[in-house]
Amino acid sequence: MKSARIRRSGRAVGLEFKHGFAGANALSTPSKVSTGPFLLMRIDRRKPEPLLQIVNERIAILLSLAEKNAKSRPERSKRYVRLARRLATRYRVKLGKLKWKFCRECSAFWVPGFNVKVRMRPREKRVVYTCECGAERSAIYAKRKS
Ligand SMILES: [Zn+2]
Repeated sequence: MKSARIRRSGRAVGLEFKHGFAGANALSTPSKVSTGPFLLMRIDRRKPEPLLQIVNERIAILLSLAEKNAKSRPERSKRYVRLARRLATRYRVKLGKLKWKFCRECSAFWVPGFNVKVRMRPREKRVVYTCECGAERSAIYAKRKS
């Protein structure tokens, strides 16, 4: 079932391959075909645009719910975050800046001052987020050259 879905939505990019898509049909391809093209093949598994719009919308909804429940119902909030992350993984949607809104370890939706400590380390030019679970995430900030 799953492989059928991939075959339908997968579009081959780059090299043309006569016997269908390399990923889905690898087992049924004739042995005389060299393995060379397989290594160069890149299959575009992105889903159709309207579907991605729905996914993005749903991720936004889930994260806003997570934000609402972060303080009052932490476990529920974490579940919303996990669902949103799972959607992003499955549909290969990039979260971008949203990645900084939750903990990667415990899935807590971060509310600065409540469950996450945000500190600057000017010498390292870093901002460090320390989650209540102990996980740390840091990002570099550099002055823009004007
Ligand atoms: Zn955490």
